[in-house]
Amino acid sequence: MSEIKGKLFLIVGPSGVGKGTIIKLIKEKYPDFDYPISATTRDIRPGERDGETYHFINKLKFEKMIKNGELLEYAIVHGEEYYGTLKKSIMKALTAGHVVIREVDMQGCESIKRVLPKENLVSIFLTVPNKEDLISRILKRGKLPQEEIKRRMESAEKEFAKGGRICDYPVDSLNGKVDECFKQVEKIILDEAKGIYPYPV
Ligand code: 5GP
Repeated sequence: MSEIKGKLFLIVGPSGVGKGTIIKLIKEKYPDFDYPISATTRDIRPGERDGETYHFINKLKFEKMIKNGELLEYAIVHGEEYYGTLKKSIMKALTAGHVVIREVDMQGCESIKRVLPKENLVSIFLTVPNKEDLISRILKRGKLPQEEIKRRMESAEKEFAKGGRICDYPVDSLNGKVDECFKQVEKIILDEAKGIYPYPV
């Protein structure tokens, strides 16, 4: 793995904590970072398009990708569907010396930690000081079925238990303070990316 020059930033944290919002803000301000999309077997949601948020594939195809070694890591998230990062796109960006941003669950974070060199990996754990905030945010997402809310809360418990221990940087994502959270994440990324970003011309 000595050819890796870039850095992968994993954004981790329980459902409802605001990972998507923070990544969206980073993407708007830093379009020259890489934002590889993952594969999943979950259903496509209204407003999503295949190839934009995820590659939506069926279980058979996903399992074939596992067998062919095409995934850097994969996990069954919220006890149901497969999610996995694509080795090819992430390694290509890292080899090119890029800053790469990807959201994964805690299992994905642990797996990637086992395969990538420490110096090429940074994990940022978005969290909330109390679980009630998180429950209300998950409920506010609207039409999630009761079963799915239950599964998400169960995964959230596990993420809370491990996040601070496994990840490099915990960052509080407080209700109504998206800007503060974004600034902290931005600072971590820019500090950690010194020497590779801004990219040499
Ligand atoms: P959603 O279905 O709401 O987009 O994502 C559900 C969860 O899947 C996210 O909170 C994130 O933790 C996880 N996830 C998204 N992409 C990946 C991936 O490529 N690998 C793993 N392990 N988890 C992912």
